[in-house]
Amino acid sequence: MRTAQFPEHIRGYLEPPPSGNYVYRCTHCERQFGIEQLLYTCPECRAVLMLEDLEWDRLRRVPGPLWREIFDYRAMLRRPALKGVYRYRELLGSIIPLECVVYLGEGHTPVVEANSRVRDWAGLPLYFKNDGQNPSASFKDRGMASAFSYLNTLTRQQGLADILAICASTGDTSAAAALYASYLTAGIKSAVLLPHGKVTPQQLGQPLGAGARVLEIPGVFDDCMKVVEHLAEHYPVALMNSKNAWRILGQESYSYEIAQDFDYDVSRLVVTVPIGNAGNITAVLMGFLKLHDLGIITELPQILGVQSEHANPVYLYYLEPDPRRRAFHPVTVRPSVAQAAMIGNPVSMPRVMRLVERYRGLAGEASVRVIEVSEQEIMDAMLFANRNGHVACTQGGECLAGIRKAVADRIVAKEAWAVLDATAHALKFAVFQERYFNDAFEPEFEVVPKKELQNRPTLVDPGAGVPLPQPGRPLGPEAFQVFVEATAKTIARMLEL
Ligand SMILES: *Cc1c(COP(=O)(O)O)cnc(C)c1O
Ligand SMILES: [Zn+2]
Repeated sequence: MRTAQFPEHIRGYLEPPPSGNYVYRCTHCERQFGIEQLLYTCPECRAVLMLEDLEWDRLRRVPGPLWREIFDYRAMLRRPALKGVYRYRELLGSIIPLECVVYLGEGHTPVVEANSRVRDWAGLPLYFKNDGQNPSASFKDRGMASAFSYLNTLTRQQGLADILAICASTGDTSAAAALYASYLTAGIKSAVLLPHGKVTPQQLGQPLGAGARVLEIPGVFDDCMKVVEHLAEHYPVALMNSKNAWRILGQESYSYEIAQDFDYDVSRLVVTVPIGNAGNITAVLMGFLKLHDLGIITELPQILGVQSEHANPVYLYYLEPDPRRRAFHPVTVRPSVAQAAMIGNPVSMPRVMRLVERYRGLAGEASVRVIEVSEQEIMDAMLFANRNGHVACTQGGECLAGIRKAVADRIVAKEAWAVLDATAHALKFAVFQERYFNDAFEPEFEVVPKKELQNRPTLVDPGAGVPLPQPGRPLGPEAFQVFVEATAKTIARMLEL
């Protein structure tokens, strides 16, 4: 829609110039630091940082209902910089000049209602939000759009060159980082560190295809993370993990989209997310808190975090009901089909602790819950979802298994509506489906395939003596006719037509 066609009272808000005053805020000592330099941890106490807009209160002068109108109208604007996560510009990085925004088509992912079979199975109405339909096929693109837009701003404003963007990854972070880095022409290169043998072939192919330097490290993600943290502390590199607070900002857009998709009435929702490094749940909590603070939503949705029994430190932490007695202990992970969340020492845990406290302070103890599920439950749920029209990855399956269990355990009311994060596209995790179908899981996974969920291709044998076409050697017209008829007949018999 052209600017002149928007209502007059909206026009002034459509394409706002940069505004606000962003600083890093330490999650431990509360000190603040300027954003002219890239910081990942507090220079004073080494705790992780959050970004904060010191001029946030100016946004409160706009009434909530007007914000809703602004965001709804802005969705009709055709300006690329305002089509992705920066549709919610005022909430997640308003100081970034629009000409520095990197937009590759991320955000505005569909919310797909589950059919009656899935609803009955889970015990409540539910929706998948398909974040696998982002450009690199996972939600990580939301955070990368933000982190790279900021990096782009820094390089332009300070004339920096030859920046090396680097990250450790369980697969999807590196795919996203490599994609965004490859788009920028102004001297940003990328290198990714992956745990050797712990990412799927599709995930490995992505950064390779984007031209990144791909380095495989022995061990699991937690080990890669330590190496990359050391690099970021001692060498001139830009760390693109969710330790980088700009990643969190972009991922907040997930909450904004949900609110908008439900016409800003989220009171019935239980927003369900898998927890790995805990960046995503941090962003989801922060996102809804911001919307609530500005009166854009009037009630907070329930948040359900889900972990695998094989990588469950956040679950174990919240198991203790008394906040004073809670103590965080990293766990040693075991092999998990929710490989993207196979993390024993989540970097964002200090952020989660603060935000959960705030969230529960506003919406009550039950407003944030964490649940654990078995590897078997994850696989069964993913396959079941995908046999019913979804494109969920194993982490999406983890969400479905989690919500089902939460309803059964009465942690979630069956009157609620669940929105499940299908954090990546099913295709990225096809190897786990394949292992299930071929009964090829190593014992550590503790997954026993159920016959009714398995599926295999059948080679059609048209019968003895029937001529068969070979690549590069087509049959003659008569022989071909024999082949077509015999094959069709065989298929008709197999399908009982
Ligand atoms: C990264 C990732 C997760 C885990 O998210 P965190 O922010 O690390 O908690 C879950 N699912 C997929 C597909 C991911 O790529
Ligand atoms: Zn500090």
